[in-house]
Amino acid sequence: MTEQNGNVTVMGIEFTNTTLEGFMESTVRPCLDGSEKCFIVTANPEIVIATRDHPDFKETVQSADHVLPDGIGIINAAKMMGTPLQERVSGIDTMRAMLAYAEEQGYSAYFLGAKEEANRKAVERAERRFPKLKIAGRHHGYADLDDEAFVESIAATEPDIIFVALGMMKQEHWIRNHMDRFDKGVFMGVGGSFDVLSGEAKRAPDIWIRFQLEWLYRLIKQPKRITRVMKVAQFMMLHTPIISSIMRLFGYSKTRQRKKG
Ligand code: UDP
Repeated sequence: MTEQNGNVTVMGIEFTNTTLEGFMESTVRPCLDGSEKCFIVTANPEIVIATRDHPDFKETVQSADHVLPDGIGIINAAKMMGTPLQERVSGIDTMRAMLAYAEEQGYSAYFLGAKEEANRKAVERAERRFPKLKIAGRHHGYADLDDEAFVESIAATEPDIIFVALGMMKQEHWIRNHMDRFDKGVFMGVGGSFDVLSGEAKRAPDIWIRFQLEWLYRLIKQPKRITRVMKVAQFMMLHTPIISSIMRLFGYSKTRQRKKG
């Protein structure tokens, strides 16, 4: 199926129910071809949990034009609620699809974020993989990112696509706060994707992804993610049929949990 098929709400966040191909066809390509502006969030369980803990972040995510389900936890939660989503649409896959389309059509991309070395290598790799891609510009993510002149210098490059790799929350807030400075552009927060693209960090091998253990792979590589993983575990518990039934039996419902937060 390629068409978009209504939205699906998981813990107060409305997800676009689509496939990668369907999303490219119905949203990204028309947006680029029409020089429109579009804000895309790719949300995994960590992001959904963060929206519950940070109301301002929830507002930012809700202000996006599209929230895509980037995590098997979201897919499972939607299925459990009886409103399944078509497929997981990951940030990195969406980014690659956008780069391929940009190369085909001669659109430009700006790369904001990550450490200087990762940023530079990510751009070099993108240039090698997509030789006809126009690079509007690039900048690491450790500058004064809210400085007016800095934002203006990016807007002046008139990018068609703006990838923002500052980690969740920071990147979505940056897009929300600054996209009005731009006349056009598809904006997307891409988390650690430049690190993966540059080869500085490796994505989990396919077998880990197939067994839905990408989160465990990242935890082994970056043990400091433990707090985040605990939050994801909490999300999974609330959305795993047997466990959530037991929790409900003890009076621990999703609603009650939300009220506490
Ligand atoms: N980062 C950055 N500026 C900051 C904080 C983080 O450019 O002030 C970059 C960091 O170097 C890394 C990315 O943001 O490349 C965050 O990666 P992570 O995998 O933690 O993303 P998340 O899981 O939070 O989306």
